[in-house]
Amino acid sequence: MLFLDELPEFGQQVLEVMRQPLEDRTVTISRAQGTTTYPANFMLVTAMNPCPCGYYGDPTKECTCSESTVSRYQKRISGPLLDRVDIFVEVPRVEYEKLAAVTEGESSEMVRDRVEYTRAAQTRRFEGTRLVCNAEMTPTEVREHCQSKLDEQAQSLLRLAMAQLSLSARAFHRVLKLARTIADMAGSDAIAAQHLAEAIQYRQRVRG
Ligand SMILES: [Zn+2]
Repeated sequence: MLFLDELPEFGQQVLEVMRQPLEDRTVTISRAQGTTTYPANFMLVTAMNPCPCGYYGDPTKECTCSESTVSRYQKRISGPLLDRVDIFVEVPRVEYEKLAAVTEGESSEMVRDRVEYTRAAQTRRFEGTRLVCNAEMTPTEVREHCQSKLDEQAQSLLRLAMAQLSLSARAFHRVLKLARTIADMAGSDAIAAQHLAEAIQYRQRVRG
């Protein structure tokens, strides 16, 4: 796993170079003496503020950045890079009452069980192939394990989403793979509309 905190603080060049490994899981380095390709299989996890001051969109504290500063800050991450990110989650500030509350969330054991259960389904699916998990599926496998498993409602939802969100071909495959994993988590071989809907809502919202 590669975790990049404060994503917009990285140089644009650095970020654009990540597109190849994110797509091919390899990295090619070219020097005068020749070109070498190395394996670079990682899961990218990254965090960023909504604006330089951090309060853009905050319900209680006002953002002190100008509109152009906010827009320039957010545009440091290119569309093609964002297109390769499957899950976007907005994390609002946690209020004091919630931080101080004693009710506990799920334990790590419970979460781990869920991950192991979901991974086991994928191990069974890809037995005898070179694949390990859903993320590694190529368009051929996406057709076999995702597109052909959509129930009728999911099919019409997908058609609607493709038209309304104008998803790229890459985004189309990524949404389907994520929906596959969500269905695996629910123990379902078919991908139902609710699995697909969840995958779609994790995609990047249009920036305002
Ligand atoms: Zn701000």
